[in-house]
Amino acid sequence: MKSTSKHIPMRTCAACHEVKPKRELIRLVHLENGCVEVDIDGKKNGRGAYLCPSRACWIKGLTHGHLDRVLRMTLTPENKAQLLERGNNY
Ligand SMILES: [Zn+2]
Repeated sequence: MKSTSKHIPMRTCAACHEVKPKRELIRLVHLENGCVEVDIDGKKNGRGAYLCPSRACWIKGLTHGHLDRVLRMTLTPENKAQLLERGNNY
């Protein structure tokens, strides 16, 4: 029997490591200029990481170095502060 269910791309949250459908997670992208930004439509080029749209995951991901590890880089304190601010919306 062939499965008729559509393939849903799954991604892992960098903070809580829960696997969720890609569209339910927020993509962060490491741009060529060295900054990490929230990638609203998921189309920016660069190494990406995903976080749940939850304040807890943003704080955990940003302050415990999970994001740095997934992106294989070190976020500047300014960049972290900027992203944490974005996380205030969740
Ligand atoms: Zn999470």
